[in-house]
Amino acid sequence: MKTRIGLLYGGKSAEHKVSMQTALAVTKALDFEKFEIYPIYITEEGEWVKGPQLGAPAENVKALEFSDNSNLPTPSFTPALFQAGGAESGKTLDVIFPLLHGPNGEDGTVQGLLELLNLPYVGNGVLASAAGMDKIVMKNVFAQAGLPQVDYVSALRTEWEKDSEKVYAQVEERLGYPCFVKPANLGSSVGISKASNKQELEEAFKEAFQFDRKIIIEQGVVAREIEIGVLGNDEPECSVVGEIVPKKDFYDYKAKYEDGDTAMIIPAEITDQQYADLKEMAITAFKALDCSGLVRADFFLTKDGQLLINEVNTMPGFTPFSMFPLLWKHTGVEYPQLIEKLVNLGIQRHAEKQ
Ligand code: ATP
Ligand code: MG
Ligand code: MG
Ligand code: MG
Repeated sequence: MKTRIGLLYGGKSAEHKVSMQTALAVTKALDFEKFEIYPIYITEEGEWVKGPQLGAPAENVKALEFSDNSNLPTPSFTPALFQAGGAESGKTLDVIFPLLHGPNGEDGTVQGLLELLNLPYVGNGVLASAAGMDKIVMKNVFAQAGLPQVDYVSALRTEWEKDSEKVYAQVEERLGYPCFVKPANLGSSVGISKASNKQELEEAFKEAFQFDRKIIIEQGVVAREIEIGVLGNDEPECSVVGEIVPKKDFYDYKAKYEDGDTAMIIPAEITDQQYADLKEMAITAFKALDCSGLVRADFFLTKDGQLLINEVNTMPGFTPFSMFPLLWKHTGVEYPQLIEKLVNLGIQRHAEKQ
């Protein structure tokens, strides 16, 4: 019998577009002899739209959409949404694959819904997703786990609105310049700026607060950017290591998705000792956040050889040309195999919980 996969994609997030591309790539890669695909599209407004069953790879994003959605209430948080075929079919999906990045998808909210519905799903659970999405909580957990990282402070929008000068002074005193200002909950570098002086700091705050009520400000480092993939549940394994070499000041949204001239070097040139340390740190981070399924852990490697963890992504970029799948390809796991492994890990975790 084929495994019925519900593919959740889109999402009410600034990373909506990234997810659309990923969903298409996944449907192209899956083996239709083994799997039936049921796309579920989440619009940018957060409406859930059930798609048609796919019997073959979709040719474009439009093909994932369903014309007759009339029998579903909006927002459609009903079990009917998760049924294979019509509401009356009685067949539930076997596993949900949330191919969602950023808030309202990568952050534990969708995972919570799936837990309540008792549906197996791919990737991280509620806690890891939520803690991994919030850069302040994540860094606090990493600090507690003894992982080296850059110094940081956080700020609330309300604090800043009340007395911005006080907040700026704190940043200047504790971190100095350059520093990086980021929305606490986001990804794909959306809302992130580098500030090299007070004026840029003010601009950076304004920008980041457009996306979140809470921001993080980090000391800027001059470093190589190194990433590693982790795959598994209770016994996670690491991929080879990749390096990102942005052509501009830092790896911003444009560099990630528009310019296309950022170099990815896989495997990265590092020493055996550094590789061993990276693996250990990535696994420590994975376990500290109680991750499952997958993460991509992002590190800085400074000139004097110090490794600092920057973050983990609980649903990293996942097209065949994204870092995470490429890391696994170089480790010996091809894209279709990687998807299958993740599906099985999701089903396995669900079974073990019962
Ligand atoms: P994604 O989830 O897509 O990996 P993100 O939005 O979570 O990205 P970060 O990975 O934290 O954002 O940062 C984006 C980029 O900004 C980094 O890849 C790096 O180029 C630069 N950067 C972030 N923080 C720092 C820092 N403290 N010092 C130097 N560069 C930084
Ligand atoms: Mg991130
Ligand atoms: Mg991310
Ligand atoms: Mg990152």
